[in-house]
Amino acid sequence: MRASKYLLTTQKEAPVDAEIISHKLMLRGGFIRQHASGLYSWLPLGLRVFRKIESIIREEMNNAGAIELSMPLVQPAELWRESQRWSKFGPELLRLKDRHERDFCLGPTHEEIITDIARNEIRSYRQLPINLYQIQTKFRDEIRPRFGIMRTREFCMKDAYSFHLDQNSLQHTYDVMFDTYNKILSRIGLNFRSVIADTGSIGGSHSHEFHVIADTGEDAIAFSDKSGYSANVEKAEAIAPKEELITKYPQMVEIKTPGIKTINELSGFLNVCKTVLVKTLLVCSKKENGDERLSAIVLRGDHQLNMLKAQKVLESHGELAFATRAHIKEFIGCSAGSVGPVDLDIDLFVDRSAAALRSFVCGANKDDLHFTGVCWNRDCPPFKVADLRNVINGDPSPDGVGKLKIARGIEVGHIFQLGKKYSSLMRATVSNEAGQDTPMYMGCYGIGVGRLAAASIEQNHDNNGIIWPESIAPFQIAIIPINLHKSEAVKEYSENMYKQLIVAGYDVLFMDLEKIRLGNMLADVELIGIPHRLVIGERGLSNGQVEYRHRSRGENKSLAIEAVLSFIEQHVNKHS
Ligand code: ATP
Ligand code: MG
Repeated sequence: MRASKYLLTTQKEAPVDAEIISHKLMLRGGFIRQHASGLYSWLPLGLRVFRKIESIIREEMNNAGAIELSMPLVQPAELWRESQRWSKFGPELLRLKDRHERDFCLGPTHEEIITDIARNEIRSYRQLPINLYQIQTKFRDEIRPRFGIMRTREFCMKDAYSFHLDQNSLQHTYDVMFDTYNKILSRIGLNFRSVIADTGSIGGSHSHEFHVIADTGEDAIAFSDKSGYSANVEKAEAIAPKEELITKYPQMVEIKTPGIKTINELSGFLNVCKTVLVKTLLVCSKKENGDERLSAIVLRGDHQLNMLKAQKVLESHGELAFATRAHIKEFIGCSAGSVGPVDLDIDLFVDRSAAALRSFVCGANKDDLHFTGVCWNRDCPPFKVADLRNVINGDPSPDGVGKLKIARGIEVGHIFQLGKKYSSLMRATVSNEAGQDTPMYMGCYGIGVGRLAAASIEQNHDNNGIIWPESIAPFQIAIIPINLHKSEAVKEYSENMYKQLIVAGYDVLFMDLEKIRLGNMLADVELIGIPHRLVIGERGLSNGQVEYRHRSRGENKSLAIEAVLSFIEQHVNKHS
């Protein structure tokens, strides 16, 4: 590509509202442009990266035996009513009406459509297993689109859906997809981990996420320092530590704690570790019939509630929310920071680690008072023990091997075993060997194309800009001529080199720009992250040399003009 005929629109500064490096560099490099919150265009340079990621995904999906199709973005409400998600899916589902007042939505995902296809097209177990995929636009009215292309409202996902006669077959395809995701992410050159995940609103039983490790990641992931165990923190099982925590309070005593409202204040006031304090959180649950119920969740002072786990443990109570201050005042008679389990007359759920405390300090259900030396069995009403907290650094690994460490991750892919959830609701059946109709087992497998590009930048950049891995760089080689329009020799050599590299099958950006200073061209080529660069100047040519530099590896290198092509052939894979 000739830069003179291309749309290169680099900028010196990123807008102030760009928070993370990938967002800043994609804007500065002219890869993407925003039109409204969470709505972006891919400029030509960005689209090249996008297409390369897309084709790696497509190749690996095809290698894994999956078959490509294309489904509509706009989806009829009837299908969503059949799957019961029309009412269950929250405001992320953008609903709209057509001119006949019929309900539609913009597809945030395509389980309903693919299940409709499967129930119409697949009749017999002989057609199974089958894995169908598309690389297509999704729309989710995200509450907080942010970080540029990382979390948008309109985005592109590769989503695949597999259909099976039985669980064994589903497990097999799931394992193949697990390997395929590993291959895709390795080819893109990412440092990633697969983790056990929650199934969220898609539903189903078994699921893994693929996370690119980066400090800016929105998710926390936990992994064992001694085994292969890794899970999203929201899902990682929290186990009570084995060591007994010793407290200095043998008897239950009510003590004055004037003005003390938080665990931090209490720990400072008593000069004890937060591990021997407990906090009691009140949650309010609401059933579909409107019934409200208050329950208490008790955690150790140094632990945080995991709402997802709490929601599962209290599933029969309905949807959970924190009780309001007014509610707590009305029912307990004190402020939120003074609630405790002693004499509490509501359902009591105690996290495993809090339940393992031999004695502890807690609120006395009266302002400015706490109890020390409280024992569960001696001093508290009956309670249920459950896993209710987030794991923390140093917790025992749930597989019994090693301790957990916590890292930040960007979720780029997610695979699920959906089982018969959609096929049962939408009656997607096949006839089995005995000729009976049976609902198909389903799996689904998503990976975000744009988010992969952003995640790659989070891992690969320096002060000068992006360092694209070879496999997804918009161009592989940049040719930068010095004084192209003044030197015949430079013009002839660079034009020639450009043509030869194109013919040889490389993606080349020829910086054939008039009146642009060399320093600016070098800076732009570094900013947009092109892995290989050749600088061609009259002085070098007269010595029979051209200057080569790799974006991230090593110093400038002089190449003999006759050896340039063979050097490139040795060091750069052909793209096309
Ligand atoms: P998140 O927890 O980040 O919202 P999700 O669990 O909703 O993700 P899935 O429904 O599993 O995501 O979608 C599969 C993939 O699609 C994600 O792993 C991610 O790469 C991509 N993706 C999801 N939401 C967005 C978004 N708003 N913008 C860009 N990519 C997205
Ligand atoms: Mg989401």
